Amino acid sequence: LGNVNCTGPRACYDEGKRMGETLCFDYARKHNTSVAVARIFNTYGPRMSSSDGRVVTNFISQALRNKPLTIYGTGEQTRSFCYCDDLVDGLIALMNSGEQGPINLGNPNEITVIELANKIVEMVNPGAQVVHKPLPVDDPQRRKPAIERAEKLIGWKPSVELEEGLKATIADVTNQLKQTELQAA
Ligand code: UDP
Repeated sequence: LGNVNCTGPRACYDEGKRMGETLCFDYARKHNTSVAVARIFNTYGPRMSSSDGRVVTNFISQALRNKPLTIYGTGEQTRSFCYCDDLVDGLIALMNSGEQGPINLGNPNEITVIELANKIVEMVNPGAQVVHKPLPVDDPQRRKPAIERAEKLIGWKPSVELEEGLKATIADVTNQLKQTELQAA
């Protein structure tokens, strides 16, 4: 049933997603059709915009530009990052399964933001520094999907290791930054 702040600055986002699920189920009941509701956790991969502000692409573009990586708060908060190909496989498995959900789709491999920063520094630019910035309001301290239902009901679990996914994402962000430089030249 979830647990969100319904009046905070992120509430329109959190409640908007919940309302979306409600409407899908109402639609399915009213029109006697099938719906499948996935709850997507942090996902990353090539072709994300390098400037969309999410943590993986922020850290990679900062490290590539030799700028300090911006860690919000202490960096002790955790996230669990799912590679985009795994997520797409999960969505397809859900759609083919006949299950309605909601079903969590994500990678349960939890990592702190600071560990992510260190990993990206190591992989992209061992000389890059980190700086701490204020933590956004209502930034969740911990996020890790429980995917037992996905495993049991739709036979899905992610298989791409973080390092492997980061390698592909780093290559893509490198290309994006090159293109931007070319356009600016
Ligand atoms: N974050 C960070 N530095 C950044 C961008 C994000 O430390 O440059 C943190 C953010 O505060 C959150 C986590 O990284 O704790 C994931 O943020 P993102 O916006 O990617 O996804 P969210 O889980 O907040 O939807």
